[in-house]
Amino acid sequence: MNIMTHQVTAYLDELYRPLNPFLEKLRKDAEEKHVPIILRDTEQLLINLLRIKHPKRILEIGTAVGYSSICFATICSKSIITTLELSEDSANIARKNIEDAGFSDRIQVVQGDAKESLTFLEEQLDQGQIEPYDFIFIDAAKAQYQAFWDACEPLWSNEALIVSDNVLFKGMTASDDFVLDRRNKTIIRRMREYLKNITNLQKVDTCVLAVGDGVAISLIHE
Ligand code: SAM
Repeated sequence: MNIMTHQVTAYLDELYRPLNPFLEKLRKDAEEKHVPIILRDTEQLLINLLRIKHPKRILEIGTAVGYSSICFATICSKSIITTLELSEDSANIARKNIEDAGFSDRIQVVQGDAKESLTFLEEQLDQGQIEPYDFIFIDAAKAQYQAFWDACEPLWSNEALIVSDNVLFKGMTASDDFVLDRRNKTIIRRMREYLKNITNLQKVDTCVLAVGDGVAISLIHE
């Protein structure tokens, strides 16, 4: 299920303007190949959050072909971005797209399971080789969001913004009425637990928005 009516989505899509011709083509190619990238309204929300936040260091979990990380680098002209991707093929395609976009010096694609990559980043942080991240975008395996969150915790700075995508998962997180395929049972249960957890934490303010496929915005305040 689309969490908004199709008419509203179509209307919002009409209002969407691509950031530049490179990203317009990358979105078109990704959509034609059914590569899941951020939805148009989610992109516009992220752009505004980034313009308000001006993060120095961005961490992304789930690169796919590099679309969102190229968006981030376009908006934040001085930010350093680390993006984590499990699939070797996708990581290689993303690196090529990032090079073509001219951002190889600011976007690093780390290939491997994000949980292992996050442990590696924590070691680098402990050794003073990297600095904490002030903007984190979680957009990978939905059943693992809590594990990603926990592994990100040592890596974020005070007042970091954590954005989790697809948290309403086609409405299924909100209600069993939208569950058509029981194979999603584990993802749905874990996503409900995740949202319950991150909306009840002290020192974290989380709002859940019905934008795109559901976006949770969590502001850390120490
Ligand atoms: N953020 C990208 C964008 O908007 O352009 C889209 C990311 S796509 C929704 C999710 C990606 O997460 C897929 O490419 C998938 O291979 C990757 N992924 C899934 N599980 C992962 C894991 N455990 N570690 C790292 N990446 C993972």
